[in-house]
Amino acid sequence: MWRDLGAIGRDKDSGGYRRLAWTPADADCRAWFRAQAETRGLAYEVDRNGNQWAWLGDPAAGDAVVTGSHLDSVPDGGAFDGPLGVVSSFAALDELRARGVRPSRPLAIVNFGDEEGARFGLACVGSRLTAGQLGLDKAHALRDAEGISLAQAMERAGYDPEAIGPDPERLARIGAFVELHVEQGRALADTDDAVGIASAIWPHGRWRFDFHGEANHAGTTRIEDRRDPMLTYANTVLAARKKARLAGALATFGKVSVEPNGVNAIPSLVRGWLDSRAADQGTLDLVVAEIEKAAVERGERDGIDVRITRESFTPVIEFEHALRDELGRILGKDGGTAVPVLGTGAGHDAGILSGAVPTAMLFVRNPTGVSHSPAETASEDDCLAGVTALADVLEGLACR
Ligand SMILES: [Zn+2]
Repeated sequence: MWRDLGAIGRDKDSGGYRRLAWTPADADCRAWFRAQAETRGLAYEVDRNGNQWAWLGDPAAGDAVVTGSHLDSVPDGGAFDGPLGVVSSFAALDELRARGVRPSRPLAIVNFGDEEGARFGLACVGSRLTAGQLGLDKAHALRDAEGISLAQAMERAGYDPEAIGPDPERLARIGAFVELHVEQGRALADTDDAVGIASAIWPHGRWRFDFHGEANHAGTTRIEDRRDPMLTYANTVLAARKKARLAGALATFGKVSVEPNGVNAIPSLVRGWLDSRAADQGTLDLVVAEIEKAAVERGERDGIDVRITRESFTPVIEFEHALRDELGRILGKDGGTAVPVLGTGAGHDAGILSGAVPTAMLFVRNPTGVSHSPAETASEDDCLAGVTALADVLEGLACR
């Protein structure tokens, strides 16, 4: 499975994957999913939002145990983010069959569409639509960099964009959703554990910082006469790094735009976007408030007007404690050693669904800690340990 999928959407020069939603590479991944379902005799269906499902047992029976992830990627993404969860799901099902266990609850594998949001700028579109967390007006307003709407892209890929919308009946049939995912960090790299359990997705947000100064000539304006917003921006970036480090949080200025953007011009405007995340709301609020204060204070010294706008925010998502504890019991059964429980700063379909169904996640060790890059990796042994863990969880949840 890994070899077949590994050839799809891979850029020869960068070595990264370009499986953006509703593109031909995405279609090839989806054809692969369908073939995997059909060769196993699973009932295959696509829901109204373009998410793919493969069922063992009768979906209408309810209380289903569902596993899966996504197959799309960011531009030049790694091989594991998403596909590891889907491939492991099929492999875990094979393992259950090899063990000869019979599920007493329906089992399903899902591939959520457009998880990365790399094309339309919004992550988890497939699961958000299903969970009713993305309004139809907003969904129909989504456009990619070429101006193609989500509806046009879905239609070109052979799906009906008029059908999209909340799917509460489908969610009501799910008793538990477990997503296996490559770890996006190095918490497991320093332990002896191939697999961990997710505790929560950190609260995170995006803030736009506008630094308004005065455009002027780089060659004729004396230093003391300048109102240079780049200076204030640069100091704010340094302050953000320091405040986040001291608080054990994360703060990143990863995008910046400059006006007039000329080599020989002092800028009139520098606009920088802050992404900040922390384990808890209080820490995040504190760090962002400190960064804002540092920006404004520095702006006063530099003669720069600083305006800050919060553009998006997602509160902490705690995975259901009962299901998490159940996973801990199932996976800790033999050795008696506790499976590590980790928080994560990255969003997932499991986080979106957690408002509607009991949800849990398993992480597989990533020795580089790198994600959204071809350097993202996991050893074959760890991937197989992930499959075994997922099979144990599915057996524990669905076969008793
Ligand atoms: Zn992912």
